Amino acid sequence: MMKIDILTLFPAMFDGVLTESIVGRARAAGAVEIEVTDFRRFANNKHNTVDDTPYGGGGGMVLKPEPIFAAVESLIGTTSSDSAPGKPRVILTCPQGTPYTQQLALELTKEEHLVIICGHYEGYDERIREYLITDEISIGDYVLTGGEIPAMAIVDSVVRLLPGVLGNDTSAELDSFRNGLLEHPQYTRPYEFRGWKVPDILISGHHEKIEQWRRRESLRRTWRRRPDLLERAELSSQDRKWLEEMQAGSAGQKESTE
Ligand code: SAM
Repeated sequence: MMKIDILTLFPAMFDGVLTESIVGRARAAGAVEIEVTDFRRFANNKHNTVDDTPYGGGGGMVLKPEPIFAAVESLIGTTSSDSAPGKPRVILTCPQGTPYTQQLALELTKEEHLVIICGHYEGYDERIREYLITDEISIGDYVLTGGEIPAMAIVDSVVRLLPGVLGNDTSAELDSFRNGLLEHPQYTRPYEFRGWKVPDILISGHHEKIEQWRRRESLRRTWRRRPDLLERAELSSQDRKWLEEMQAGSAGQKESTE
């Protein structure tokens, strides 16, 4: 079973996220074990201080190395930042880190133990980055007050990919980004809502044609919204033909939800 440890100064922020919905059910079913630890416990000084002013001056406070090293070592036993197989991945949440993607979430599902460190204030003493962690992850090019929301995003996206966590195993496979493309448009009942109808192909019962329509709409949506993804996606010759038609404006079909 995968184990995830979260190190934070604000454990209560995780209450709902880890007990509700799919993550809550996955924990209850024993698919994942998640523990939240307040690293202030490891401060080892009279006032339980975990931060200090930066050397060289300037505003803001910096997280001290001792409490975070001690907390991680209490969980994994060593201080090496090697990412050898079987070793826990020690992840620093950080706006300067590797951009988080579905591919990285998928890669993390292969690990037995993840440790996620939530920063706060101006950031971390650089020695944490240099000598303790294996990964730095950013959830986007913006700055949050702390690493708790990024940690929640990482945990949620990893847990839903663990075997058996989603009721229908194929639903994660069709998600956006999984095959390098955005997901196709979805519809449900009623067939007609305020005069707007569901595309007829979806009620035709013709599975092969439905799959073709989905693939084409997935390509169309990716081309319109995230053309950068198409450069890396695995495309068949049929995909390329559809894209050429769209780009030439000759597909003759307006995107149904836009
Ligand atoms: N001064 C830092 C910088 O410019 O890189 C930003 C520190 S931020 C106010 C405090 C903490 O929030 C960070 O240490 C990190 O844990 C978390 N954080 C903020 N934005 C993030 C992002 N986009 N991705 C991941 N973590 C983030």
